[in-house]
Amino acid sequence: MIKKNLPLASFTTFHIGGPAHSFIEVFSEKDVQEASSYARSNKLKLFPLGGGSNILVPDAGVDGVVVRIALSGIEFSDHGDSTVLIAGAGVPWEEVVEAALARDLFGIENLAGIPGTVGGATVQNIGAYGVELEKVFEYADVIDATNGEPKRITRNEAKFGYRTSYFKERRELILTRVALRLTKDGMPHLTYPDLLKASASGKSLKTPQEIAQIVRSIRAEKFPQRGELGTAGSFFKNPILSKELVLSLEKRFPGLPVFPQSNGSVKISLAWVLDHVLSLKGFSIGGAELYKKHSLVLVAEEGTTAAEVDTLARAIENKIFDALGIKIEREVETFGAR
Ligand SMILES: Cc1cc2nc3c(=O)[nH]c(=O)nc-3n(C[C@H](O)[C@H](O)[C@H](O)COP(=O)(O)OP(=O)(O)OC[C@H]3O[C@@H](n4cnc5c(N)ncnc54)[C@H](O)[C@@H]3O)c2cc1C
Repeated sequence: MIKKNLPLASFTTFHIGGPAHSFIEVFSEKDVQEASSYARSNKLKLFPLGGGSNILVPDAGVDGVVVRIALSGIEFSDHGDSTVLIAGAGVPWEEVVEAALARDLFGIENLAGIPGTVGGATVQNIGAYGVELEKVFEYADVIDATNGEPKRITRNEAKFGYRTSYFKERRELILTRVALRLTKDGMPHLTYPDLLKASASGKSLKTPQEIAQIVRSIRAEKFPQRGELGTAGSFFKNPILSKELVLSLEKRFPGLPVFPQSNGSVKISLAWVLDHVLSLKGFSIGGAELYKKHSLVLVAEEGTTAAEVDTLARAIENKIFDALGIKIEREVETFGAR
């Protein structure tokens, strides 16, 4: 059923935003085909919505068809030393993690506790505690909204990068199903400082369940609890810069945490810059604030507008540019802006 002028705030973790021109919930591939045909025949843009945990919906709402992805179901297929988990794109990511843990499968335990759906997780190539989704991605089944045709996008085509993928280039592809390859005899991935610290303090981190439990407890300290404050997690990406630029920044800002990338560029910690260079923890505009417990995270009190969040984000972007001479990128997407 198509709903008109449906307020979107309650479909997002920011709890902010105006109405969708049209809103359709889709439970099957056929529903996705029908929704895309509706958008085409009414000359409206189509915007897939997962758990709404990585978007900011403008106060004016979205001028298009918002398609809420509700395809469900998790299946497994065993292949000797690995198991492929296949999930409907609307399955909450945490349910996927739980299903893998229940079978003692390694691969996504470091990604426990991330909100959203498996479809959104794939588009975004979610990452946490030293692991990104691309490590286990096998394929995604999609419907091309321009003609309703189904397709399969494999690992080699998915062009994953830091919080990005092929699906961000090809917005007409609506993910309906995602397959992840997991293993029983995997190795714990414990290179991230918080996990090394937990291990050094005597915590057992041998099984996927133990790792997921520690990851969830670390996250509980860093992010607002559900319902407390609106947020979409880290609002900005950590900048990836040339080696030369990072060397000069390290001279100006001793102690700057740096993470060399495989292609020779270097990622720097934006949270550290916000805390130590700009002392911006707790910086606020209206009801929007840079979270005191984690400076990459923007939070919003009840009643905050998207305009306030955007003004705060712009102020931070300008301060970084003035101090470091670099333009930072947002991780959170303004929904309906394309
Ligand atoms: C408290 C908190 C903590 C977080 N921590 C992390 C973290 O540690 N690491 C991390 O990487 N992210 C984190 N996030 C961000 C967010 O949870 C992830 O990016 C999540 O995967 C987004 O999924 P979603 O279903 O909510 O996507 P949405 O926000 O609904 O959508 C995001 C984008 O994906 C598109 N999309 C969604 N589903 C589909 C589909 N089926 N087909 C095509 N396009 C689709 C949307 O159109 C939109 O462009 C956090 C967010 C919060 C609120």
